[in-house]
Amino acid sequence: MTNKYYSLGLIGYPLEHSISPAIHMAAMQELKLSGEYIPYSVLPTPSGESQLKQLIERVRSKEITGLNVTIPHKQSIMQWLDTLTPAATAIGAVNTIYLKGGKVIGENTDAPGFLTDLKSSSLWVENGTALILGAGGAARAVSYALVQAGWEITVAARRVDQADKLINDISEALVTNNKMMKSLKLDDEALRPGLDSCNLIINTTPLGMSPAIDTNPWPSEFSIPPHIGVYDLVYNPLETSLINQAKSMGGNTRNGLGMLVEQAALAFELWTGLKPPKKIMLEAASQLL
Ligand code: NAP
Repeated sequence: MTNKYYSLGLIGYPLEHSISPAIHMAAMQELKLSGEYIPYSVLPTPSGESQLKQLIERVRSKEITGLNVTIPHKQSIMQWLDTLTPAATAIGAVNTIYLKGGKVIGENTDAPGFLTDLKSSSLWVENGTALILGAGGAARAVSYALVQAGWEITVAARRVDQADKLINDISEALVTNNKMMKSLKLDDEALRPGLDSCNLIINTTPLGMSPAIDTNPWPSEFSIPPHIGVYDLVYNPLETSLINQAKSMGGNTRNGLGMLVEQAALAFELWTGLKPPKKIMLEAASQLL
């Protein structure tokens, strides 16, 4: 038990359905820390710019211990931070802010959070091959993590130029051979040929997420071969249309809940320096899903 008060929070808009407050409050209670986790609802920039800058200053002055950042501020807030970690720079998005050595630092815990969860699951293989559906912020985090871990990736997007940009940025940041990364159009014809050698399909699009639970990023013309695992970053609902489709073919699946908890645990550790009680955090999240 310490006397320190942990003022934590989440910047985003809208925030009504976020389960991060419950996850972090449960962790603080378990470790008997005194503190708060406040949702800061900030309008998209330019309207929200002065509020974002004020929140950063409150971190600098230690009034706020640390912040999570979510849609729509993950990219726009980067310009006002003092330092970005290599992961945040390469991914082009920040989801965690903390103070170190007087500097306000932007980090991205989605990438290591995803990798930790994948490695803890039966979907993990060494030097595997992944097909990533979507090329937005979460796809960038997943791609960064997998390429760094020695995987080959194919990024399939409805806008191939978005996938190409992702690949260029990650290969520049990691000084990696571009051969480890390919881009494709997210459609039936383009996806089919590479499936034999694929170990894992990862959904990084919001398709399947509540309330649009019947949507599915997989082109419906052909089934997912059962030798390929499916990891869906969506966690609400826990069983998406894609996960059900893969399961019905006998495939191995995992939803995004583990990643959600892992990225939160890494942020919690950066803010408190303490070992996060991940089991308690998972229970808190599960109660809301
Ligand atoms: P984002 O930056 O908006 O990226 C979404 C991607 O999906 C973009 O490439 C987008 O393409 C594509 N997409 C959207 N609708 C599509 C459609 N109908 N058909 C094909 N592609 C489509 O969002 P994000 O931040 O990456 O988040 C994506 C999802 O991951 C969300 O559901 C989020 O909750 C989840 N997520 C989960 C975790 C976790 O911890 N489990 C962490 C981060 C994110 P366009 O650009 O062309 O629209």
